[in-house]
Amino acid sequence: MNLADYRRAARAWLRANAQSDDHPEADAITRAKDFMARLHDAGYSGITWPERWGGQGLTQAEERAFAEEARHYTLPTYVFSIGLGMTGPTLVDRGTDAQRERFVRPLLRGEEIWCQLFSEPGAGSDVAALQTRAERDGDHWIVNGQKVWTSVAQHADWGLLLARTDVEVPKHKGLTMFVVDMHHPGVTVRPLKDMTGRSGFNEVFFDNVTIPDEHRVGDAGDGWGVAVTTLLHERLSISAGVGMSGQKDNPASVEALREVVDTGDPLVRDELVELHIRTRALALFNQRLAQETRAGIFPGARGSAAKLLLAELTMFQADVATRLAGQEAALADHPLAHAISQAPGMSLGGGTNEIMRNIVGDRVLGLPPEPRVDKNVPFKDLKVGTQA
Ligand SMILES: Cc1cc2nc3c(=O)[nH]c(=O)nc-3n(C[C@H](O)[C@H](O)[C@H](O)COP(=O)(O)OP(=O)(O)OC[C@H]3O[C@@H](n4cnc5c(N)ncnc54)[C@H](O)[C@@H]3O)c2cc1C
Repeated sequence: MNLADYRRAARAWLRANAQSDDHPEADAITRAKDFMARLHDAGYSGITWPERWGGQGLTQAEERAFAEEARHYTLPTYVFSIGLGMTGPTLVDRGTDAQRERFVRPLLRGEEIWCQLFSEPGAGSDVAALQTRAERDGDHWIVNGQKVWTSVAQHADWGLLLARTDVEVPKHKGLTMFVVDMHHPGVTVRPLKDMTGRSGFNEVFFDNVTIPDEHRVGDAGDGWGVAVTTLLHERLSISAGVGMSGQKDNPASVEALREVVDTGDPLVRDELVELHIRTRALALFNQRLAQETRAGIFPGARGSAAKLLLAELTMFQADVATRLAGQEAALADHPLAHAISQAPGMSLGGGTNEIMRNIVGDRVLGLPPEPRVDKNVPFKDLKVGTQA
């Protein structure tokens, strides 16, 4: 099918099937799963992913055509964003064939929901300081510990878990990555309410949870290498909005604001033009990174620059919306309240703005890296978390 026909077919499918419902509440999960199954069956989920694992094996041109058409809708894909943007690409890049065979197609069809279990109470920016332990027991591993800020864990079937398997070596070297069954006895998920009033993330506790060795991703001790793959995908997908939720229903977008403010006022026009330019510049930067990725040029740390720009754009957008709509925009029942109250989270989730700047300074600009006094110290001798 040529690209113009592909685009026409995608437009017709979206018109007939897209719903305007992006809330990860329990009663919406069934509808979201049903939508993902139809999206996959129609050939629009995993457009550039390998056919062998359930993707469509198409090019970035088709993916972009679909994304451009989908921008006119808010698709109910939020609950799948961790799987589609982070854990799925990690399994495609680093998993075994058996893991790809078992997990990727159900993920793309929305049959199974995924979460990412990295951060802990004592390990966020310095995630390599984490303390959740996985100890080998024959063909299995036994996991004990706690994670926090785990997005969509309350709905998840599977989690990508980073755990410590060796305390005798420096912190980055004693980690291993696993796929964990979120329904296994001993996994407890407690939703946390954030300032938007919703429970986007959770605390997750592991109490003698068993994981078969075939659910290990990468070698024992190479968890950090696998985590870096996940984090690179995470930053690219956050900045590119892989969840496919368009700007259509975002009340803080230029398109929405121009309908409700006085566009005859030159100061208002200035704000809208600035917001438009920043939004467009980031979209073009993301497009370029995506093109390079498909051409085999890995964007590496520049994905962190894109994620930083998105966090700053999101705050600027919330700021402009508040200035133009007035202070009542922050009241709970105002249409802009959610967009405004969730904006600061973007500066934290997926790595904070300060950490993104450190990465860009170190790996893009080649500035001297931060001093790492703990680089060669065995983990058990570090004063981190409950060891402090
Ligand atoms: C909406 C949202 C969703 C999230 N979803 C997930 C998820 O699904 N899975 C998951 O594992 N985690 C998730 N997180 C957690 C997120 O990755 C962490 O919040 C983030 O890495 C920061 O860690 P922290 O909160 O422990 O803050 P800390 O690391 O304690 O940082 C506190 C402050 O110190 C600054 N700081 C720390 N170290 C440095 C440094 N070296 N140089 C300069 N400044 C520094 C930070 O920038 C920050 O301002 C989510 C967070 C949010 C907000």
